[in-house]
Parts: sequence; structure tokens; C-alpha cells
Amino acid sequence: MRIGILGIAIESSTFCPHRSSVSDFTVLTGQELLDIYDWARPGHELAEAAEWVPVLRARALPGGALHAEAYAELKADLLARLREAGPLDGVLLDLHGAMSVDGLVDAELDLVTAVREVVGPRAFLSAAMDLHGNVSEGFARTLDLLTCYRTAPHVDTWETRERAARNLVTALRAGTRPVKAWVPVPVLLPGEKTSTRVEPAAALYAAVPGIEARDGVLDAAVWVGYAWADEPRCHAAVVVTGYDADAVRAGARELAEHYWRVRHEFTFVAPTGTLDECVDAALASPARPFLISDSGDNPGAGGADDVAWTLGRLLARDLPSAVCASVTDPDAVAALQEHAVGDDVGVTVGDAFGSGLGQVKLDGRLRFVSPTAAVITVGGLDAVITARRTAFHDPAQFAEVGLDVTAYDIVVTKIGYLEPGLYAIAANWLLALTPGGVDQDLLRLGHHGIRRPTFPFDADMPDPDLEPRIL
Ligand SMILES: [Zn+2]
Repeated sequence: MRIGILGIAIESSTFCPHRSSVSDFTVLTGQELLDIYDWARPGHELAEAAEWVPVLRARALPGGALHAEAYAELKADLLARLREAGPLDGVLLDLHGAMSVDGLVDAELDLVTAVREVVGPRAFLSAAMDLHGNVSEGFARTLDLLTCYRTAPHVDTWETRERAARNLVTALRAGTRPVKAWVPVPVLLPGEKTSTRVEPAAALYAAVPGIEARDGVLDAAVWVGYAWADEPRCHAAVVVTGYDADAVRAGARELAEHYWRVRHEFTFVAPTGTLDECVDAALASPARPFLISDSGDNPGAGGADDVAWTLGRLLARDLPSAVCASVTDPDAVAALQEHAVGDDVGVTVGDAFGSGLGQVKLDGRLRFVSPTAAVITVGGLDAVITARRTAFHDPAQFAEVGLDVTAYDIVVTKIGYLEPGLYAIAANWLLALTPGGVDQDLLRLGHHGIRRPTFPFDADMPDPDLEPRIL
């Protein structure tokens, strides 16, 4: 068996003015690509089961939609390498599922359709995805197998890819195309309301392995979907795959009905408030460090990272011990290059990509400077400025700009739910509902392109048809 490995993976917000380019992607090919998968190494049963052929995998930090030319360039490179790879029995697609491209409403469908055209109708296609990806009917139909993470924050990313590879090998050995039961669930919620750390998502996802373990079922998967793109495919979805049509249909219906039944129970994963309410609570609390998620411009969810709104509010509060990370402003970082640590400096930051939420003047002392970042101390506040969009989602990233994140009373960073590294050091935590391209208040963003009715946009909608479609 020869199985190709490929993919273009990005989560991109159509509400964000930033546009993703080829340079935002890390592109792996050849042995370098193969080496990232444990199970493709000699000695592993999956490595012995097939010849794994690395094609191309491009992966980027979440951001704005791709320029049409950027997508065309990546796709053309991927397809050229796929043709060069020769005949393949199968393809493992390492995707996210929430890529937006200017001019397309279902970018992953476009990609898998093009892959299918190259490899032909006989090859089996298996996709490993983020549960924040979207699954349209056409996309699911074009694939033979598709699965996604079962945890958010995502701690099962590599085992998900291995499961997709294993399922592909199993199906190829059986020589029979699996049956897929697909159910669109008309619910669209942010990841911060659907963390599997808490109910009701914890119980929903806990039910998935039980469905998968049934006779005749190969895989079961539940997608939350991506809330910050305005496309018809943005909604929750369930796919159960296997060889017994009745079993996959029953499993898919159960998971879809479970999702729909608990739709009113999804709440934010942490207590929320306005930024000022969160800062007031942090100042009144003895918990140190007190983490505040500045959620509206979270680059990890697709925010532009150029919004200085929160920074401006924090400066106005004259806080005794706080850090604010981060605002991307290439011009400001460039202007600071001629200064040394300890210099008094003044720069204006914000709105580098056109988010339209204003600029802030920083007059303070330069605490850290490198070609890619700077830290300016204003009173008790350290403001982190970066040349490129950067997600400060782990203490190690603060260390890279010379900061010990545990040394502050208040840590404000652009994130939604806390990733494991920050979760571990947070003595307490609040989610601030701040403005930006990944605003957690979906109803104020103004979706026009999603299917209607969808909960909670149509809060009183009637029960939907959750009968699985066999694809
Ligand atoms: Zn995700």
C-alpha cells in the first residue's frame, strides 16, 4: 500500500481584516514531513503496514482569510507534488477544516476535490481535523473517512492524526469503502462555550468512544464548527463511519440528538465580564497571577492581533503590576530597533491591519527589544509589542521576550480558554469579552452567510431534522 500525506491547515476568520499569505505558513515536504508523525517511523506497526509518501503539509497560525493567490500557490505546489508522488492507494489529509479563502465559501471542499481528481476515484481519502473545523455535505462525501479531535483545549492532536491513519489502513486492508453517516447540527458556538473541560461538552465528547466501539463502527466524530467565518458550512456536525449502515446511522443520530438536546447548557468556560469588570475583580483578589483572557482579538482563533483597545484601557487604569500581550505593530518594533534597553521611548501602536479599534501612544522605558518584539514599561504595566502576529499562550512565549509571567499580579493576554501552560500557572482566571475579529459575542458580529435557522442566532427555532444522511 502507498499512502500520501498532505494538507493545508489554517483556521481563518472572515471577520478579521488581516489576510494570510504564503509566508504565514510553515511548509514541510519530504523526510521532514514524514518525521513529524511517530507512527510513520520504522518499527511502528503503521509504518510497516504501508509506504507513507510525504507530499506537502502547510500549516499556519490562525489568521484572516487567505488571499486567493496565496491559496492558489499552495494548492498548485501541493497538487504538483501529488502528481509526482505516483499512484497512491490512499491519502491522509492533515487539515484544520476552517480555512477561508477570498472568493470561496468551502475552501476544504475545493482542496479535497482537487486531490480526488489527481488520485482518482479508487484511492481512499482519510482526513484528520480540528473539531473547530467545518464539515459540509460535499466535503464529507468526497472523503472516505474523516475524524477530529475529542478535546478542547486540544491535547489529542497527534493521536487524532494516528487514528485517521489507522482507520485508513484498516479500510484499505478491508478493501471496502466505509459507509458514512453525516448529520449537520444547526448550532454555532464559540470554542470558549464548548470546552471539553466542562459540561455539557465533556459528556458529549465522552460518549464518542462508546459509539466508536460498537460493532460495525470504525470511527465517530463531533465537530463544533468555526464560529468566526460567515459561510453556510459553519455549524456543528457529526460523522460516524463504518461497515454497518444501521450502526453508523444510529450512532450519528444519537450524537447529533445529544448535541441538540444540550444546546442551551453551553456557557463560557470561565466567568466573563467586560475588561473593566475583570480588572476590578483581579485587583480585589489575592490570587496571583490573575489571568484575564482578552478574547476579542485572540490570534489563536484568527484575530488580527493589531487591536490596542485593551492596552489603552489598561494604561488608563494605572495598574501596579501587570503585563499586556500583545499588539502586532511591525512599524513600532522597527522604530524601536535603534534604541537600547533602558531608554525612554515613545511609540504609537495599533490598527496595523485595519481593525479600526484605534491606536495607543506608549511613553515609557524600553525593557526588552529584539528584531521581532519589544516590551515597554509604563508605570506598573509591561506592554508587549510584536513585529508579527504572535499568540502568547504559554509561559515560554513570555520568557522569549524576557518576562516571567508568574511575577505579575495581573496577566492580560489575547487568548480564549487558557491553553495548558497558562492554565497551570493561573491562580484565578476571567474571560474578558473584548472587541475584535473573533468577538465571543457572536450575535453582535453580524453573520449573513450561515444557514438559517441556526441556534443561538434563531434562539426559538423548532427542532431540526437530525436524520443522518448516508453518504
Ligand atoms: Zn481548535
